[in-house]
Amino acid sequence: MFRIEDECDYCGQSYYAERSTKKYCSDSCKTMACRKRKSDSEQALLLLQKFKQDQETHQRWLDEFIESNRIEKIARQEQLEQEMIENQKQAEIERQKRTEDNEQRELRRLKKKQREAERSSNRPDDLIAKVIENISNQYLRNMSDNTYNEIIKDGLMDSKRE
Ligand SMILES: [Zn+2]
Repeated sequence: MFRIEDECDYCGQSYYAERSTKKYCSDSCKTMACRKRKSDSEQALLLLQKFKQDQETHQRWLDEFIESNRIEKIARQEQLEQEMIENQKQAEIERQKRTEDNEQRELRRLKKKQREAERSSNRPDDLIAKVIENISNQYLRNMSDNTYNEIIKDGLMDSKRE
């Protein structure tokens, strides 16, 4: 009978095999090896599943990170735009205020000029009016009663003699 010395693939003990295709020393080692293979493949499957889950988780994290970055970027951009609009509004308000200030200043300047013009133009008129009044009073005082009465009657003057 052909016999060959071999080591059991499961327990590692030496035994004499009758066929070269035999791998185990006993039926029990064969069964255990079968269970172990099954368990190994289950383990491998579990590992593979876990690996896939991890990969999905990492992808999700990456997606979330990219999304949150995108949202943050948009928010930052919106904030910048808002700030720009606010600055423009503020600049417009200041510009209007400056314009109003300028208008007020111009108005004040014009009024002052007008007052000055009125004062300077009134002064000689007042003086002339006073002189004329004095002269006419003197004239009225010196004229004869008849002439005075005629002047009053004709309505040339409306003042009474002092
Ligand atoms: Zn064995």
